[in-house]
Amino acid sequence: MLLDGRQQGFECGTVAAKRDLFDQLYRYVRGLPTEEQLRAFVRDLSGRYHVDIMEFCKELCMDWSELATLAGDPLVTIGAHTVNHVMLAKVPERTARAEMAMSRAVIEASLGQRPDHLSYPVGDNTSAGPREFRMAEELGFKTAVTTRPGVLFPEHRDHLTALPRISLNGEHQQLRYVRVLLSGAATAMWNGFRKVDAA
Ligand SMILES: [Zn+2]
Repeated sequence: MLLDGRQQGFECGTVAAKRDLFDQLYRYVRGLPTEEQLRAFVRDLSGRYHVDIMEFCKELCMDWSELATLAGDPLVTIGAHTVNHVMLAKVPERTARAEMAMSRAVIEASLGQRPDHLSYPVGDNTSAGPREFRMAEELGFKTAVTTRPGVLFPEHRDHLTALPRISLNGEHQQLRYVRVLLSGAATAMWNGFRKVDAA
């Protein structure tokens, strides 16, 4: 495949090798400077290996009627997450603002609930920073979460659009691990015992 501007071949005969290649490619696309380059790379790769992206979406993503059922549960709060899942810090301010505002408008129109909360796509420092925190506030979101790991402290009241998030991604799904994460012990180590990371 074309990687870093040159044709490269990869060995992926075993599951371990496949995972390893996936990690390499993931790091590569995440490091690309713009959203367009990232999308072009994934489209090209999918086309080349006959992967139908739309089929994946149909199989894996909920449709509006399923979302409406979910939203009807009293324990569920639907939040906004942009329209195109763009890494907001990598696009012009106008685009980022439109992505946030539009996603809320579409959800409100479809589910009849106006989301008060936002989560930044991808959500690390390269995807959401002070500009996005300010925009979310200006747009009237009550809270917005990053994927910067951490738990809540009283000091976060001054940074409600830069909240940390505990990621449950299938690697920590045993309840006892989740409890450790929620205790803040693991993320305190990770953050060097600094409480708020909102810069
Ligand atoms: Zn996402």
